[in-house]
Amino acid sequence: MEELGKEEIEKLYKLSNCNMCGDCLDEATGCQFLGYDHERAVKEVTALIEGRDTPVLEDCITCQACQTFCPNGVNIFNWIIHRMDTEKTWIAPGLDRLNLYGLLPGLEKPWVMQKGDPDKPWVSVCLVHALLGPPGDIEMYKDSRIFKDLNLLGGTMNCLVGMTHAGLENATGPACLEAIKGNIDMYNTFCGGKEIIFSHDECIASLWQGEEQGLEVPFKHTHIVQYLNEYLKANKKDIKPLGLKVAHDSNCSIRYGPSREAWFDEFYELIGCTRVERRYDRENQLCCMPNFLLHRSAGAPERGVLPDVERAAEARKKNVDDAVAHGATHMAFICPGCMGNMVDDCLNVGLVPVNIIELAQMAFGERKARW
Ligand code: SF4
Ligand code: SF4
Ligand code: SF4
Repeated sequence: MEELGKEEIEKLYKLSNCNMCGDCLDEATGCQFLGYDHERAVKEVTALIEGRDTPVLEDCITCQACQTFCPNGVNIFNWIIHRMDTEKTWIAPGLDRLNLYGLLPGLEKPWVMQKGDPDKPWVSVCLVHALLGPPGDIEMYKDSRIFKDLNLLGGTMNCLVGMTHAGLENATGPACLEAIKGNIDMYNTFCGGKEIIFSHDECIASLWQGEEQGLEVPFKHTHIVQYLNEYLKANKKDIKPLGLKVAHDSNCSIRYGPSREAWFDEFYELIGCTRVERRYDRENQLCCMPNFLLHRSAGAPERGVLPDVERAAEARKKNVDDAVAHGATHMAFICPGCMGNMVDDCLNVGLVPVNIIELAQMAFGERKARW
């Protein structure tokens, strides 16, 4: 990987804005996974910014949350992942020699899942549904009024922001940016430049990240919740308010692109659900931590860090317990990967896991929850 000059580093990561306050890594105000008090957070963030060794480069679980904790606009997570990637501190030995940026999205070629009205938009049904989602996920798209006449695109995957879960750089790095560019060309050619509605938050977040880095996306790109809200408003008379108390669970890529919170709030209101206010929602949402399999070590007990499998189980348990404690009966996911990862945790505490698309279909009486 090419070395960046000082000016380029400043442009990408804005490190000179950092006043070493430590808030991003302090457990009281920021990172929920490293277990740092204020003093330790200041020490480690100083080492991070100054380019010195720090256990953060091995122990961070790549949840991306600190990217939004900084009040001074430092791109702190982007800097962490840049260092992890260039210094190869995180990824499991051997995996670093694979071109994961090309490998994962190249698993399956794009194909037409449903041929709709040629003048209507496409819906990208991300491959993550099949790879990591819970059983029956793809069924959501079949025979639903919500997708009637739309063109369904199967087999694609643009979860390149999620490469960070392998200790690899996001779109601030050239390899990821190149992969996003390749996917933009593929989408544009396959869908004839028509609007694409992205069913997976992470796929559209990768496009938004690419745009921030100067890529042009020549087709209209729409988030699934923007589309659902428009559909719900246009078909208000058919909605039967669900009256459910729902714990919302966002995914890691929510940290990039425009804020989706107002879209989610509107969505729950339109289907007559209450989004319960709880600790691990909005800017404090907890990562489902699916990444430990790619990590080079199984945690670092000698540094007071739990093995990754235990940290992951602990994080998921904290998340579902918080939902139940705040009165939720359902947990709604926008990421099929997170949902696949957390189905058992939800069921163990009596929470019904649902994808937000299913919730909209339930409001039209089209289906029941799968569990
Ligand atoms: S990155 Fe931001 S939050 Fe973290 S220490 Fe620097 S100024 Fe504080
Ligand atoms: S990415 Fe997550 S785990 Fe890593 S330092 Fe930031 S908040 Fe902590
Ligand atoms: S599965 Fe969840 S945590 Fe993983 S890449 Fe998708 S959104 Fe991120």
